[in-house]
Parts: sequence; structure tokens; C-alpha cells
Amino acid sequence: MKIGVPIEIKNNENRVGMTPSGVFELTKRNHEVFVQKNAGFGSGFFDKDYIEAGATILDTIEEVYAVAEMIVKVKEPIEQEYSLIREDQVVFTYFHFASSEALTRAMIDSKSVCIAYETVEDADGSLPLLIPMSEVAGRMSIQQGAKYLEKPIRGRGVLLGGVPGVPPGKVLVLGAGVVGVQAAKMAAGLGANVTILDINMKQLRHVCDIMPKNVVTEFSSEYNIRKHIKDADLIIGGVLIKGAKAPKLITRDMLKDMRPGTVIVDVAVDQGGCFETTKATTHQDPTYIIDDVVHYCVANMPGAVPYTSTVALTNVTLPYVIKLANEGWEDACANNASLAKGLNVVKGDVVYKEIAEAFDLEY
Ligand code: NAD
Repeated sequence: MKIGVPIEIKNNENRVGMTPSGVFELTKRNHEVFVQKNAGFGSGFFDKDYIEAGATILDTIEEVYAVAEMIVKVKEPIEQEYSLIREDQVVFTYFHFASSEALTRAMIDSKSVCIAYETVEDADGSLPLLIPMSEVAGRMSIQQGAKYLEKPIRGRGVLLGGVPGVPPGKVLVLGAGVVGVQAAKMAAGLGANVTILDINMKQLRHVCDIMPKNVVTEFSSEYNIRKHIKDADLIIGGVLIKGAKAPKLITRDMLKDMRPGTVIVDVAVDQGGCFETTKATTHQDPTYIIDDVVHYCVANMPGAVPYTSTVALTNVTLPYVIKLANEGWEDACANNASLAKGLNVVKGDVVYKEIAEAFDLEY
């Protein structure tokens, strides 16, 4: 199969759909890979790495779309790309159709085959192509939180790990899912005292088994949250209720119970956030302060670490890319229930119920 890897043209997107290692796996299986010039640059991969792995470098995005039977990328196509997508072309990427009717209608009109990373789903309900980005964001939340605890950025002036003779800082993690576990692990590694809350006892038992002694689990209740926010230095929001807005676990009135300079990092901002005072911010201007509490609410945290994010993403997408290339999309989806869940728009038809419902389209 001919596979195309275009440069990501969405503002501030430095990730790329395939690493040279992925190209190598495909070319050794006799597939042809066409990579746009400089596509990997933002993630630290150079054209010569792709050429060594067997790719052909093309100068323009138009050439990549024109030659490829399957496009592998990261973000949803933006308006400039709509007209480049052809009938029967497979496009494998994050689409998040429910948040854009214009994109949905453009892909219906293109008659292409749109397979969305975010809806590929395993039998246990987990979303294998979203997990790596939660892992990145969870780990990064502590790195960012530690930075904003510094006094020059109006934090409490606390070093999370403490020093001999000075106790470590206290980190409160809301949600013991992928984000929460990775955050707790990083905070514990720095030597902080960590409390992690969840309503899922099974998950808390698992966390209790795998975490070091400086991580304590507790059931998530308003009472417990109110108790912990009083002396937490850093609070991480990592809760998710599938298909719903995040519950507002920390309300505006609770901010006055926190100490000045406390930092809150709301990773769940993309689902509306779990703090009432959350509003989405960007890497250019990541924080704001309300009632002396520093808020960090960046909606695309993995975008700041494109090397790690690209490698983490392609680690999980590559097996599916190989399957699609080897078998063709119809057989690959027929033979793999997880991948079949990724089909969203197929040759002019919306085949994912929630997307059809979102825009009152035929399903
Ligand atoms: P997950 O499903 O693995 O974990 C969510 C956890 O929240 C679950 O264990 C669930 O039981 C728990 N939970 C639900 N209600 C709760 C409550 N009232 N109190 C405490 N815990 C509760 O989800 P995840 O992969 O960890 O993702 C968490 C959020 O982070 C999602 O909204 C996701 O979209 C978001 N995210 C954001 C970024 C970013 O860049 N900002 C990146 C990746 C993921």
C-alpha cells in the first residue's frame, strides 16, 4: 500500500503521524511510505532518518495526499486539507468529529474512509490510542505543577521533594485513572507526600498495591476533598466520567480554604474541567490566578513535548497501521473489533452513532 505522512499544519502542532522506526516496519513489509519534507522536524526527526528507513520525501502536502492510499497523521484535517482528501482514501488520525460539524460534513462529502484514533476501543472499554496522551499529560502535570509552585511565578515557594530538615510538599490527585496514576507516580518519585482519590474502589486497591509508601489512597467524597485542599500544595484534576462533562469537585467557594500560592492543574479541562473556576489556557499563556490560587488548564498538554508524544502515539498506532496496510481497511476492520470501532465516516456515510446524533445526520 502507498502510505502518506503529511506535515501537521494545525497551529502549534509539532507532532507527526509516523516515526522513522514506523516507516522502517512498513517498508520492510513492501509498503511504500511518502513523507512530506520536514514533517518530523518538530518532533526531532529529520528527512535523512526517514530516507534511511526507506521513505520517499515529497515537497508538498498536495503531493502526499495525491499519491497516498492511506494518510496517517495526528490531528484532524483542517479546512485547507479538506479538498485534498480523495474518495476511497483511508485517513487514520484523531478526528474528534463530535466537536466539529464542518469537519464531519467535509469528510462525508469527500467519500473517504475516516478511522478515528479516539474511538478505537478494546473489549474492556479502554481506548488504546488515547491512553498514551493521558500518560504524557499525567506525568507532565507534576512537572508543570512543580514549576508553578515557585515564588517568581506566584506559587507557594515550595520544593515538592523538600530537603533534609524540611518536609516535602503535599500533592492531592483527583482520579486514579491513567492521568492520576502517572501523576502520583511522578510526584512520589520527587519525594512528595501524595494522596490520590477515586470513587472506584477496584482502582484504589490496584493503586494501593503498586504505589510506594508516600502515596496514600482515599475514597473521593466532598468531605475528604475539603479536608485535603486545606494543606495541599499542588492539586491535580484527572477525573473522567465517560461521555459526560467532568464533575466539579472543587467549587469556587473552596478556593478560599486553600493556602495562597497553591497550584491547581486541571488535566480534565478538555471535558470541561473538574474545578468550577477552570477555563482552558494555552502553552503560550498557561496560567491565571483566582483568589491567590494558580490555575494551569492547558487543553493539549502533550503538544509541549512532541518528541515523547509522537513516539508514544506511534507505538500504539503502528500495529493498526500495519494491519490496515497489509489487509486493506475492509478486511482489517472485519478481523479486528477494536479497529472496527474506529470507523466513523465511510464513503459518505456516518457509521458512528454518537456522531450522527450530534448533528442530526443519517446513521
Ligand atoms: P481514566 O478514565 O483513565 O480515569 C478517570 C478516573 O476518574 C477514573 O478512575 C474514575 O473512576 C475517576 N473518577 C470519576 N469520578 C470521580 C470522582 N468524583 N472523584 C474521583 N475520581 C473520579 O481517564 P484518564 O485517561 O486518566 O483521563 C482523565 C482526563 O484527562 C480526561 O478528561 C482526559 O480527556 C483528560 N486528558 C487531558 C489532556 C490534556 O492535555 N489536558 C491529555 C490527556 C487526557
